[in-house]
Formats: sequence, C-alpha cells, structure tokens
Amino acid sequence: MKIETIAIHAGNLTDQNSKAVIQPITLSTTFERGEDGGYPAGYMYTRADNPNRKSLENVLAELEGGEDACSFSSGNAAGGAVFQSLEPGSHIIAPDDMYHGLRTLLNQVFKGILDVDYVELADIEAVKQALRPQTKLIWIETPSNPLLKISDIKALVQLAQQRNIMVCCDNTFATPVLQRPLELGADLVMHSTTKYFGGHSDVLGGALITRKKDAAWEKIRSIQSLAGAVPSPFDCYLTVRGIKTLPYRMRGHVENAGKLAKFLQNHPKVEAVFYPGLASHPNHNIAAGQMSGFGGMLSFLVKGGAESARKVANSVQVFTQATSLGGVESLVEHRFSVEPPDTKTPQNLLRVSVGLENIEDLIEDLSQALEKV
Ligand SMILES: *Cc1c(COP(=O)(O)O)cnc(C)c1O
Repeated sequence: MKIETIAIHAGNLTDQNSKAVIQPITLSTTFERGEDGGYPAGYMYTRADNPNRKSLENVLAELEGGEDACSFSSGNAAGGAVFQSLEPGSHIIAPDDMYHGLRTLLNQVFKGILDVDYVELADIEAVKQALRPQTKLIWIETPSNPLLKISDIKALVQLAQQRNIMVCCDNTFATPVLQRPLELGADLVMHSTTKYFGGHSDVLGGALITRKKDAAWEKIRSIQSLAGAVPSPFDCYLTVRGIKTLPYRMRGHVENAGKLAKFLQNHPKVEAVFYPGLASHPNHNIAAGQMSGFGGMLSFLVKGGAESARKVANSVQVFTQATSLGGVESLVEHRFSVEPPDTKTPQNLLRVSVGLENIEDLIEDLSQALEKV
C-alpha cells in the first residue's frame, strides 16, 4: 500500500463489539485473564501494552517500513531508550548540530556512562577519524536542528556496517513521507511525534522504529515497559488521528517552506537562509538524493545581529513566537536564547516552522517584520 493509505488505515484496529469506525480509547490499565491464566486478547497491563498503543505502533512501523515500533511519552524518552540500551563505556558519534534536548540528555544524564564525540557528519573523513573500537552508535539527524545541515545516510551506514555499529536516525524534521532511513540501511529511526505526526501542537510523544527485530531491539522494548516512559491511551489516540493527514500536510509544509525560503533569500535584510531545497545549500544534492521533498523547516540569519533577529521575532503577527515545530500554525523562534550557553547556534538566527496558512499571508507577515529592523 502507498503511504497515504497506510497513514489512514494502519493505525485503526476495529472494535469488534461496537463496530465503531474509529477505534475507541481504551483507558483500562488492566485486562482480564483467561481460565488458563493467559491473556486472551494479548493485553495484560497498560505499561506493557494497550490497544491504542498497539495501533500507534502498527502505523509507525508501516510508515517507516520497519518490522516493529516502540512508542514513548516524548521524543527525548525515545532517544534516551537508545542510549540506555548501550553498555556503559560505549562510544557514540553524534552530530555537531544536534537537537539540544538530546545533546543535554547525553551530556548531563549519561555523563560518565557513555562517551560522546560531536562530529560534522557531512564530513565522512571526520567521522572515520572519530571512530574507536568502543564505538557502538552513530546518531544521525538530517536535516538537523536548527542549521538544517544534511548528512549522507547511506555513506554513514556503510561506514557503520563494516564495523558492526548501530545507526539511529532522528527523522523528526523529514518524516517518513519525505525520507525513509531504514530503506537506506539505518537500524533505527527515532521521532519526536510531538511535531509533524501529531501535527496540531497538542500532544507530546516519541517513537523508535526498527529495521529488524533483533536482540538490540528486544532490549529497547524491555526498556520501554520497565522504565515506563509510555504514552497514555489518549496520547496514542491523538497521534494516530494526526498521522491520518500527515502525507497531505507534509506536501503543504514543503510547498510553503520552498516559497518562503526563496522570498527570504532575496530579502536585503537577510544575511543567509538555511534550507536544503535551495541550490545554494552546501549539501543540496545529497538532500535531493535521499529526500522526496525538502521539509517544512528553515532558518535564516538577520543582518544586524541578535537584537535585529529578536526584533523580527517580536514583530510578527501571523507567525507565533514559540518553540517546537510541525504544527499547522507557523512558528518563529530566536534559537540562541533557548539553547545552552555552549551552543554554536548563531545569535542572529531565527528558526521557522512553516505552517499551512496561505503562503501570501506568511510572506507579507515576515516582510512587515523585517521592515522593522
Ligand atoms: C523536539 C525534538 C526532539 C525531542 O522530542 P520531545 O518530544 O520534545 O521530547 C528530538 N529531536 C528533534 C529533531 C526534535 O525536534
């Protein structure tokens, strides 16, 4: 089946009692045992599994083309489960431009347990140099947050496979509609489903999807139920509901972002635009090879420094100045002021989550905001 059909049907387990077209929310934390001591419907206790979670995991696995999926209460919990599954002393190669929440998780919570090197992943030679005998994981994020850097998934997978290193790709910005890392050989895909999957900025969640159900995956599955950072049935319901329109929403995000990037690129008050769809992006060709669309996220530098950038963010009317991304509404954010002090994010950078409003209204809004500086 094609992705639009999967998105609508793969997360919908029909309720055989009511024949409801939309699966009900199963709030029960516990499930009745059979006379033989078993669990006739396959459910025992909601931390371990639940019908709404099963539906969500079904559709997630099918969308990414994986054998199985684990859903979590947040994207950070999903990423954290991968880190927890590694033996202490393991070495990780992670992107130099990495989602700051996961980077801080590694630097604070896994400090002294895991060794991390932050490397420019677009530079394959630099990645080779960083490899150690203890390297167990290459963490990819492409496009990256907030600089929209692109790394070559296939090339990194090749490096890793020769050495038995696990590859996990944070696919939050691209979604499986635009990029399918498991087909390019990655072992795991990670998502913050809080973003495009939910799509309406009203539900937090995370996911891991695996290419193969192997021993490493079984460990992650047990971390999910034992550590217990699981999404509630209502969270699962909302995410499944959001996913149904994901392929169509992504088309709109891509179309609007492409137009906004061109507008900004030609604006006299803009110093630079970071969007993989622009021919000027240093890895535009790699993006074109591994993505079917360039996504709905972009960032740009405002001429005149941090103060000018903040002025633009303070002057928008259709956009909302807020963190996060992937909702139907457009957001703009001065990134430097929310990241840790050691961040390499330029002080005059604004990150934009391009929503699904009419593009003319979005351009007009940024246009008037840029006039203020
Ligand atoms: C938001 C985000 C995360 C973390 O997800 P939460 O749901 O906020 O925990 C991880 N990676 C990327 C790229 C993100 O944008």
